[in-house]
Amino acid sequence: MRHLVDITDLTPAEREALLDLGEEMLRHPGDFADAARGRILATLFFEPSTRTRLSFESAMQSLGGGTLGFAEASSSSAAKGEGVADTVRVAGCYADLIAMRHPKEGAALMGALYAPVPVINAGDGGHCHPTQTLTDLLTIRRELGRVDGLTVGLCGDLKYGRTVHSLVNALAAYRDVRLVFISPEELRIPAYMKEGVLRRMSYAETDSLADALPGLDLLYMTRIQRERFADPEEYLRLRDSFLLTPELLRPAGEHMAVLHPLPRVGEISAAVDGDPRAAYFRQARCGRFVRMALIHTLLSGALGPAPARDLREHPGRVCPNPVCITHAEREPRRLFLEEGGACRCAYCEAEA
Ligand code: ASP
Ligand code: ASP
Repeated sequence: MRHLVDITDLTPAEREALLDLGEEMLRHPGDFADAARGRILATLFFEPSTRTRLSFESAMQSLGGGTLGFAEASSSSAAKGEGVADTVRVAGCYADLIAMRHPKEGAALMGALYAPVPVINAGDGGHCHPTQTLTDLLTIRRELGRVDGLTVGLCGDLKYGRTVHSLVNALAAYRDVRLVFISPEELRIPAYMKEGVLRRMSYAETDSLADALPGLDLLYMTRIQRERFADPEEYLRLRDSFLLTPELLRPAGEHMAVLHPLPRVGEISAAVDGDPRAAYFRQARCGRFVRMALIHTLLSGALGPAPARDLREHPGRVCPNPVCITHAEREPRRLFLEEGGACRCAYCEAEA
């Protein structure tokens, strides 16, 4: 059975086929109005979200299917102390597919290990958010006509921004993509990414959006992720690090596209919304169709066997990441990935 925990769970061919199907659904939604008739999607949102949950529900209903679920942990048995493993086993008795959002990193893999039905990661803490990435990729294709060869600026909270982490992992599979990371010193892209996927990519880091803008084909803005900061003072100090304005955009390329996973909370001025390069609301719309494509693909069992992953069980080893899901479950299987001499937690990818 296939799940979507991380964007790299999809082979490049599977990912492109999904994007093609998303494009087709966007153009001809009526052709798919009954594709999931009689099927049920459970949306298990242990962490509040509006748009991601709405886009999943909209996608399932657009395919003729039904949805059930909860929108915050307090209205689930998590409030009674139930772990993810049991919650998904139960939800899988009532639904054909699970979309799950959780504040702990690695929670989606925990769900996928135990659920009797496919699990889609709708965001696991600051770790990753693969359906946002599919949304981003469909938007990039539509706005710029290609992904290969682009220079992509990623600006804002690169430390806690899970959408950035997933997008970088996906862009690594395209040809000649160059990345420019734009962030304050404190919110740089995590070390595990520099030691992992970024070894294979060309990238630069800066704290100046103005300096980076003229060379970009795409600017991916993100908000500073308030809920991930251990120190509220640090959030207050960093929250106004960037503001994209029409003046700042002036020297940027005429065909550059500005994306943002939303919600924005002050990093893009409303005065930018009318600029033809502002693609973030078109991007939100892509999210519905790409999720329709994903749901349809997982329910129809169209994907082949999952790419092999070398997961090792080390019962005595504990993940050092305090927000990893393994610290929240009662008897987690302690799984690790061993690659290139390094050992990482299979759930949250922290070095162990
Ligand atoms: N991070 C949330 C989401 O993806 C933002 C929101 O609540 O709108 O849905
Ligand atoms: N909606 C995106 C997420 O859930 C981006 C954000 O919340 O800033 O990660």
